[in-house]
Amino acid sequence: MSDTAYCYHCGKHHPKTEMRQIHTKGGSRWRCIKSIMATRRGVAERDAFGKQVTAINSSEQRARMKAALNPERKTAA
Ligand SMILES: [Zn+2]
Repeated sequence: MSDTAYCYHCGKHHPKTEMRQIHTKGGSRWRCIKSIMATRRGVAERDAFGKQVTAINSSEQRARMKAALNPERKTAA
């Protein structure tokens, strides 16, 4: 059992060989490499997705601004 450590991410014990020690403000903690990699991949995917969304949003915004600036558009009131 001495070869395992408590993984604060999973809330379980894993073999230390599959883990890394993370230094936080509260001290050092163990976290499994699997969860570190999963988070890293998740962040990369989210970044890519976020960039896509930003591109869509800005093109939509541009279209909306064009429509708002359209002189043919009648103003209500
Ligand atoms: Zn874990």
